[in-house]
Amino acid sequence: FVAGTTLDQAVEAVRTLNATGAMATLDVLGESVEDRAAADRAAAAYVEAIERIAAEGMDANVSIKLTQMGLDLGVEECLSVLAPVAAAGATHGVFIRIDMESSDYTDRTLEVVDRLRADGFDVGPVIQAYLHRSPADVEQLAAERVRTRICKGAYAEPPEVAHQDREAIGDAFVSLSERLMEADAYPAIATHDPEMIGRVSASALERGIGPERFEFQLLYGVRRDLQRRLLADGYRMRVYVPYGTEWYPYFMRRLAERPANAL
Ligand code: FAD
Repeated sequence: FVAGTTLDQAVEAVRTLNATGAMATLDVLGESVEDRAAADRAAAAYVEAIERIAAEGMDANVSIKLTQMGLDLGVEECLSVLAPVAAAGATHGVFIRIDMESSDYTDRTLEVVDRLRADGFDVGPVIQAYLHRSPADVEQLAAERVRTRICKGAYAEPPEVAHQDREAIGDAFVSLSERLMEADAYPAIATHDPEMIGRVSASALERGIGPERFEFQLLYGVRRDLQRRLLADGYRMRVYVPYGTEWYPYFMRRLAERPANAL
């Protein structure tokens, strides 16, 4: 599930993906830093990744977790940590995806995305279908045609905050994806669930929305068969490629969501 501990290894993985027609998004592993120096180190790793994407002409962008960029130190501090990353993205024309973490961070994460966009940076958020608030957030993003990733949501949330049952989460996932496709916001449909992929692609077809108006996203190493099939069927598909020395929590989440992967 992890491309390697170094940027060189991640670049190798992206080259291999690009050669098959897949796009990539690079994730420097790490989360929840508590001091500015650690946040700045993580930001520097992202600047390096963006420069490499440009230098090698790879079809890739980056995905960033704000707690790794010092969000726990405050929104202003986080924006200041992000400044060199946003500048590198702008210089090299590399889109920056801001991942979504637990619901404690939703407001602050959307605020950071908003403020970066107001300054003209090409960034976009992630919306988690399981959150009750998400239809309202998506309405706003659709109105501004913000490039958004839709996922089910990976953090344990209470029933007041998030749907708990699979069907409700799936229905929300499809309707939020539809809203963003209709708004022509080029959404990213992030899931390994064949039912979600089937429902969203059928809905696009019904509405006359071509495969160039959205993309599917899957995680590195997960359902490679499905990744190949999506490309063969003519869909745009991006693989989330995590790398770095702090791989342990990410790896454990992948095992927890599907214990059979341990085998
Ligand atoms: P599930 O509903 O978990 O499972 C459905 C089916 O998918 C399974 O039966 C199986 O066939 C297949 N499957 C699922 N997981 C695996 C696996 N690990 N190995 C093998 N098969 C599997 N969450 C966030 O909260 N914030 C984010 O910013 C975020 N970004 C993401 C980016 C990408 C590109 C992806 C793919 C996911 C992201 N997620 C994020 C995680 C997401 O919220 C879900 O927790 C995760 O994708 C599991 O839901 P699912 O729809 O893929 O499949």
